Amino acid sequence: MKTNTEQIFTYLDEASSEEESLYLEQLIVACQNWAEGTTGPDIQGEVTKEEIRRGLQLAILKGMRQNVQPHHQMTPDAIGMLIARISSFLLPQKEMVQLLDPAAGTGNLLLTVMNHLEMPVSSSAVEIDELLARLMVSGADLMEQTIRIYVQDALRPLLVDPVDLAVCDLPVGYYPDDENALNFEMMPADGHAYAHHLFIEQTIHHLKPEGYGIFIVPTSLFESAQSGELHTYLKKHTVIRGILQLPQTLFKNAAQSKSILILQKPSEQAKPTPDVLLATVPDMTDKQAMISFFTKMEDWAKETAK
Ligand code: SAM
Repeated sequence: MKTNTEQIFTYLDEASSEEESLYLEQLIVACQNWAEGTTGPDIQGEVTKEEIRRGLQLAILKGMRQNVQPHHQMTPDAIGMLIARISSFLLPQKEMVQLLDPAAGTGNLLLTVMNHLEMPVSSSAVEIDELLARLMVSGADLMEQTIRIYVQDALRPLLVDPVDLAVCDLPVGYYPDDENALNFEMMPADGHAYAHHLFIEQTIHHLKPEGYGIFIVPTSLFESAQSGELHTYLKKHTVIRGILQLPQTLFKNAAQSKSILILQKPSEQAKPTPDVLLATVPDMTDKQAMISFFTKMEDWAKETAK
């Protein structure tokens, strides 16, 4: 018997493979039809938000493979789940959370975090690619999650109120708009700025004091030619709370490996700075190792929140 996630994927996949037009365009229509109750997967009983997200994620991945675009990169589930867990450790006592993803893509990372937080969440998302933004709308509708979506360059002024938490799988590479980059402290004296540096700066700018930014970054972040600008900026405007190296098994090669960088925006009242958490995430299929890793993370988060 098929699981709910498999049933959802089967429905979405069949409905998106019918015509000559783009799979991802048909997928949006299939989601709309399901949300409106016209058609839908063959499921008896309750469906959870996470089952919907996983089924949709499989269909989006299939659509992305059929029509490859370099910036169509969905955050892998294992990393999304880890960030969701870290988010709930860091925000345990909040009654309501304002959340932002400034490079939200399909919304997979943002929706994973939203689906796992226990308190009410008010979310904003920015994405420059209209097709990805429309996929995000479809997912959010089906999961009955509300996201204010801005389809624009996230490095231009954003009409987003300061947030408690930002999550971002950073777009990596040079930012082509030098003129706009001049508005950022991390614009280097020579050459183009790194988009991933400017995204960190823009995100910190939109955090409340004591708010957290959780970023998926290249592991080589602090070794690049522009790391001087990055170090100066981080020292002046943030407190580095943690750097978690993700397991190598998640990436094709060492050059592509990623880490999770956890930053906090300092408040007016200076607080003693707790130790930076430096850790390597264990192989995620090793249950025992993951349990002890999360216990360590939870202790660290309690210490950090004091
Ligand atoms: N977390 C996303 C998900 O789960 O689908 C994936 C994010 S992907 C690594 C980075 C995203 O940043 C891409 O969707 C890309 O289109 C977007 N992006 C790149 N430059 C941007 C910009 N200047 N403004 C807004 N979005 C941008």
